Amino acid sequence: MSKINLAKQLGEQLPSDIIDFIQKAGEAAEKRQQRLYVVGGVVRDLLLDRCNTDLDLVVEGDAIKLAQAIAASKKASTTVHTRFGTANLKWASRSVDFITARAENYARPGALPTVNPGSIHDDLSRRDFTVNSMAIELNPRHYGELIDPFNGRQDLDKKLVRILHKKSFSDDATRIWRAIRYEQRLDFKIESETLRLIKRDIKMLETVSGDRIRHELELVFKEETPEKQLARAAELGVLEALHPSLRADDWQAETFAAAREKNLPDPTPSPLYLALLCYRLNEKELEQLIKYLRLTKTTAQVLRDTLAIREKTQELAAPGLAPSIVYHLLHGYSAAAYIANSIGSDSETASEHIELYLSVLRHVKPALSGKDLEKLGVPIGPEIKDVLQKLREARLDGRIGTKGEEEEMVRGLSL
Ligand code: ATP
Repeated sequence: MSKINLAKQLGEQLPSDIIDFIQKAGEAAEKRQQRLYVVGGVVRDLLLDRCNTDLDLVVEGDAIKLAQAIAASKKASTTVHTRFGTANLKWASRSVDFITARAENYARPGALPTVNPGSIHDDLSRRDFTVNSMAIELNPRHYGELIDPFNGRQDLDKKLVRILHKKSFSDDATRIWRAIRYEQRLDFKIESETLRLIKRDIKMLETVSGDRIRHELELVFKEETPEKQLARAAELGVLEALHPSLRADDWQAETFAAAREKNLPDPTPSPLYLALLCYRLNEKELEQLIKYLRLTKTTAQVLRDTLAIREKTQELAAPGLAPSIVYHLLHGYSAAAYIANSIGSDSETASEHIELYLSVLRHVKPALSGKDLEKLGVPIGPEIKDVLQKLREARLDGRIGTKGEEEEMVRGLSL
């Protein structure tokens, strides 16, 4: 079969500084008698006409030494991971990963694989899906040649996500989440045998650490419309494997869309998405998930705060609440927890109160400081805090509005 050459597509679709970089990198590899390839997402997206500049370069030979040689000639910086034989090279705003081609073996399901140096074919064979298992050679004599041992290009045409072998999901069940992610992002279909194996191997998700599942979930939240991925995960029983009480229904889709709107200009509000995904869990369920995913303290706090505010919905839903009451009900929680409740609450009044708190009430402060109060004769100690609080309440409820009125109020207090 004649070789397909993608040099023209590379030149047309990638920015000129990247083309210049990969050509020089190919020449540097040639000089060192190494072979260099661009692999994975960039190749897939090049063939799909989608913009992707996240370069993953695979080297037959020592990737670290090649990356360092290129970095030296380009005044770029490298971060090296000797254990994995990888190096990350940064120049200007670009970031490129250099990976030593490797052959992997899984001793048991879910375990990290044992790794040995290998050929580009070995390296492509360890990958997740046919559409991600293509490479383009960068050495000058073969520049642009497509290497496609698993017919990835054909699956791109057929819009199929297909694993490379039957043990793929039992080797690494995070690929189940990855399959869903690509299917929904690219508007593909998971190929029928792959789908059957997902269903067979869902239980293998139990063999994967919570850390790795959390990472997959974070990647889902970086997608343009994660609700699509979650709905598919729910349909396949994958979301249930994460926690049996999680749901991905119309409510979820609507609240995620609202989260994107609220979070502009950054449209990937990960903590907010997570808070909304967990919004309907009770305390016990939430704690189980926090523990399983080993969430950071900050993220766990967002989720606990979201629940704490949700539990106040009834109080917040009372019409005509005094602003000082709203303030006290809502004071002291994490930012994303407010927004999750303002989006997720089933009470319009509660949402309005949260919005009022966020836009106005939380910024209200007395004009007088602790020092001013001392001068007005308030004894040093807890009284200062009490008086400041009373002043804030009076301001919140519109009983006073100026510094003079605050002074008058302080003088009138029996201290
Ligand atoms: P994305 O557009 O989602 O970033 P990508 O293809 O660049 O897509 P990465 O997660 O950056 O995805 O991974 C790079 C490549 O590494 C993938 O294309 C795939 O070939 C391989 N890969 C990543 N994770 C796995 C995995 N769990 N099992 C096998 N191969 C994987």
